[in-house]
Amino acid sequence: MSESSVAGVRGMSVAAAFAGMRSVAPVVFRAGCPDCRGRFELAASALRLAIGASRRSTFYSFTCPDCGAAVRKPAGERIVELLTGGGVRTLRLHSTV
Ligand SMILES: [Zn+2]
Repeated sequence: MSESSVAGVRGMSVAAAFAGMRSVAPVVFRAGCPDCRGRFELAASALRLAIGASRRSTFYSFTCPDCGAAVRKPAGERIVELLTGGGVRTLRLHSTV
């Protein structure tokens, strides 16, 4: 009788491969154009966010890279958080109370 204990454990260190390498993924936002119905990804610099006093006056805008149309869409709370967190230019439309 012969016992064969083969330990086939590979020691791959993933950490070593990423050592000294920062994973700085550029923030891109998916957007769609109502004019040409094109879908594309926009960088944070291509978007602008306007925060108004009410939800109706809070929106984000961008220029369609396909047809050049100025697109304006309402921005909910989640979108506002997403855009501001991604470094999108934010314009606050303050109304004097
Ligand atoms: Zn378009």
